[in-house]
Amino acid sequence: MFWIGFIIPLLIAWWVASDASKRGYSKSAVIAWFLGVWLMLIIFLPLYFILRSKPKRSIGVSKGHYVCPYCGNLYQEKASFCPYCGRKLEEEG
Ligand SMILES: [Zn+2]
Repeated sequence: MFWIGFIIPLLIAWWVASDASKRGYSKSAVIAWFLGVWLMLIIFLPLYFILRSKPKRSIGVSKGHYVCPYCGNLYQEKASFCPYCGRKLEEEG
């Protein structure tokens, strides 16, 4: 059953990469997180949770993209309600 030690970190790394991608991380950052979590799960997984809990505004979001303050998902059009979690979004001043 040696493959479990290979597959489980891979699945977690895949989830972290897709989550990081949704949060507006650059492609190279997503790849770095993927490899880091896969190869050094014990170190990088807690690190990822620490870093991603930072205020959402610190994440660089390209023009025309918005981050839901409730679920952290990225959406393109300015909307009154988040398309992912359905919560009402505040207008930004
Ligand atoms: Zn949301």
